[in-house]
Amino acid sequence: MSTVDTDRPMTASDVQPATATSPDGSGLLIEGLRKEFPMRRSTVCAIDSVDLTAPQGSFTALLGPSGCGKSTVLRILADLETPSAGRVLVHGEAPAAARRNHSLGIAFQDAALLPWRTVTKNIRLALEVTGFDAKPAAVQDLVDLVGLTGFENARPAQLSGGMRQRVAIARALVTDPAVLLLDEPFGALDEMTRRRMNMELQRIWLDRVTTTLLVTHSIDEAVLLADQVVVMSPRPSVVAEVVTIDLPRPRTVEMQRSPEFHAYLDHIADLLFGFEEPA
Ligand code: ADP
Ligand code: MG
Repeated sequence: MSTVDTDRPMTASDVQPATATSPDGSGLLIEGLRKEFPMRRSTVCAIDSVDLTAPQGSFTALLGPSGCGKSTVLRILADLETPSAGRVLVHGEAPAAARRNHSLGIAFQDAALLPWRTVTKNIRLALEVTGFDAKPAAVQDLVDLVGLTGFENARPAQLSGGMRQRVAIARALVTDPAVLLLDEPFGALDEMTRRRMNMELQRIWLDRVTTTLLVTHSIDEAVLLADQVVVMSPRPSVVAEVVTIDLPRPRTVEMQRSPEFHAYLDHIADLLFGFEEPA
């Protein structure tokens, strides 16, 4: 986002070709990623070899059976785990450097808000932790962007689950990250709220143009939001297929009823349900 220095909100047309700012020509680059976890007497290979590229400003959804290593991929990108082998670059930098430069915004399934802090102060927490500075107006803009206007002084207990997730997403965005990593952020929400939040996330993403990786177990959510859906195999995982979602934006509820949308759902479901049950 540092490529544009005006005050107006970014739009998709502001996104530079990936090569303009990213030396490796990619927003996210994962090559030959392997992750083994030491167990008592042996090691468990969670990720065998994963390759993935995502252009700068694109939206990637990561799908796969439970335990296949989706969260591990995200945690490696976020510098919360180290790879056993392979090359990982976030906007041309190693994850540790990206984390130091505050290029990363992260939100998990559990909003993990501090109960005694108001909405505004929970969002500001990311600034306090990173030492990053943002004008009060920027925080208010985010509150408005995620649709929490009027709830600035509410505490988490006074908010619905969907509203708490909006706070978590606003907190992830407050350092103006180039990359947004989301691990099943709507996984604990009821179906109706999740659908509403999907549309909200699309609106936020179109407004901020951030390279986004969303881990999800919802095929519907993946197809609705992503430019590409990366389907991982069961553990030890590899990328089974990358499905490019060639649907116009903004994606709409009507589009979700179209034959094209359903063809994507069916194809991905066939892939996922086609995996053999692990022994
Ligand atoms: P997913 O998010 O796709 O459900 P995870 O990335 O959480 O999968 O986990 C992938 C595999 O790695 C699982 O088998 C899990 O048990 C194992 N795993 C993840 N984190 C650790 C850890 N810290 N120590 C040992 N095993 C782990
Ligand atoms: Mg997970």
